[in-house]
Amino acid sequence: MLTLNGFVKGEVTNYKQWTDNEFSITVKADIGPYVAGQFTKLALQDENGEWLRRAYSFVNSPNHALGRQCMEFLIIDVPNGGLSPKLAKVNIGDDIYVGDKPSGFMTLAEIPTNATNLWLLSTGTAIGPFLSILGESETQQRFEKIILVHAVRTKQELVYQALIEKLLHQYNGKLLYLPIVSREQHPGIMSGRIPQLLKDSSLMNTVKISPNKQNSFFYLCGNPAMVHDTRDVLIELGFEKHLRRSPGHFSFENYW
Ligand SMILES: Cc1cc2nc3c(=O)[nH]c(=O)nc-3n(C[C@H](O)[C@H](O)[C@H](O)COP(=O)(O)OP(=O)(O)OC[C@H]3O[C@@H](n4cnc5c(N)ncnc54)[C@H](O)[C@@H]3O)c2cc1C
Repeated sequence: MLTLNGFVKGEVTNYKQWTDNEFSITVKADIGPYVAGQFTKLALQDENGEWLRRAYSFVNSPNHALGRQCMEFLIIDVPNGGLSPKLAKVNIGDDIYVGDKPSGFMTLAEIPTNATNLWLLSTGTAIGPFLSILGESETQQRFEKIILVHAVRTKQELVYQALIEKLLHQYNGKLLYLPIVSREQHPGIMSGRIPQLLKDSSLMNTVKISPNKQNSFFYLCGNPAMVHDTRDVLIELGFEKHLRRSPGHFSFENYW
């Protein structure tokens, strides 16, 4: 039997294709505990028997109805990538290796307790960990407003619409969803990039909420160029990076 240190063998239990190169897989594996917003590693062997392992964020909350051993990941098939093209080709029932100790600091516990307005800014597949966070009942209880921003290139990449609809209903006005498409124009959907739309106040004007240092916290996740430029805009606006020893207003996770 194959073994890989730090990983447990799991099974692919579902596969959903969203676009030509974006898909979600559901995996069942007996891994250790995790909290919403974290990630683990997935691993498969290449043609030479070498292990390829990469980080992937949970889309589900660990407290979802199927139990924490049942995990969902939203993945993009990166052209000429090492692991993701192999993940794109898995079939239901295939073996997959899953890191048994999930990690990550983009969690509810890291958000300063004074924050009542939570801005979740994502690009592409990085909406995943925010959906995980939104799946927690604590999120609904703790915040007055949550603004979920998802920036993609084409409308087709605005994934998980049914789940988002369900969350909007469940959050009963507390959750605001702001899709942004950069390469197409669609009525009712913002066009552009997150840093620019933050800088010119378009995001704030659309949701009619002005972030401030007293009650706002931002999580940035995904494309490092978005994270870098958004961080610069937030600093220009007077917000500070959050550190455990010195609470601030934003924190981030780069996907590469
Ligand atoms: C904390 C963390 C969480 C992550 N969570 C996810 C996730 O939930 N879903 C996911 O698809 N990826 C996620 N990633 C990225 C993932 O770990 C791999 O880097 C990605 O699947 C590419 O691996 P690869 O072996 O196919 O490509 P590699 O040969 O390793 O090529 C890496 C290149 O792929 C591109 N790339 C990597 N990730 C992405 C992405 N998400 N979208 C667009 N381009 C990308 C970049 O150009 C990068 O330089 C995460 C990364 C980190 C650090």
